[in-house]
Amino acid sequence: MTLVQDRSLVDLRGVRHAYGKPGGAELLVLDNVDLTLKEKEVVGLLGRSGSGKSTLLRTIAGLIAPGSGAVVFPEKADGSRATVSMVFQSFALFPWLTVLQNVEVGLEAKRVAPEERRRRALAAIDLIGLDGFESAYPKELSGGMRQRVGLARALVVDPDILLMDEPFSALDVLTAETLRTDLLDLWIEGRMPISSILMVTHNIEEAVLMCDRILVFSSNPGRVAAEIKVDLPRPRDRQDPGFRMLVE
Ligand code: ADP
Ligand code: MG
Repeated sequence: MTLVQDRSLVDLRGVRHAYGKPGGAELLVLDNVDLTLKEKEVVGLLGRSGSGKSTLLRTIAGLIAPGSGAVVFPEKADGSRATVSMVFQSFALFPWLTVLQNVEVGLEAKRVAPEERRRRALAAIDLIGLDGFESAYPKELSGGMRQRVGLARALVVDPDILLMDEPFSALDVLTAETLRTDLLDLWIEGRMPISSILMVTHNIEEAVLMCDRILVFSSNPGRVAAEIKVDLPRPRDRQDPGFRMLVE
């Protein structure tokens, strides 16, 4: 059974990106990348360090503009376009802000009234298992908890697309596994307020467990060199007992 719909949330067409180097030279990182993220799918991105995976995610998030090519968010049925949030490997929290304030930052760019902002931030904090830590500062938290703050900040805007850049790789094995399981549980229970995930990982097992398909990125310059379809019960097939067996 597949619930994947064919509607795409974002299309990358011929995306090229080069970083400037001292002396005017260029480092070509992304070369002619084509990629589509559809509704309700989880896609993994594997590739060597330095192959341009983070650059690709930042391009989709709109944090960098591609040198050429296009990142297109097609109109959805209701006329709106997919929104994107990102979770970073190094968490990227503001150390001088509390957990609650860090999560509220996610809503800062939106015109959300303060009370509404607080309400939504508290809901995201609760969802991600940080209840009781609202007034803590990042330095008082473990790595796993800090990444939960990063996740809450990303989820608070109810994005269609969640981009995760090696979200568990700064964590020890057990912490990573706990966070991954918690995320999968939210997904299974239908409480993740998102449609699709694009995640960078170095962990094949994690990719197979979480993803519908895995894109393998080549380096120098980066482009999608292979695609692996994962044929296992998927998180979104919540009723599938096979999936529970897989995660437990
Ligand atoms: P990955 O995430 O796959 O490890 P990155 O996208 O971080 O790869 O980096 C791809 C290449 O671009 C690397 O060689 C890296 O050193 C270089 N690079 C990344 N960010 C910048 C930057 N802001 N300025 C210049 N070079 C960069
Ligand atoms: Mg990276």
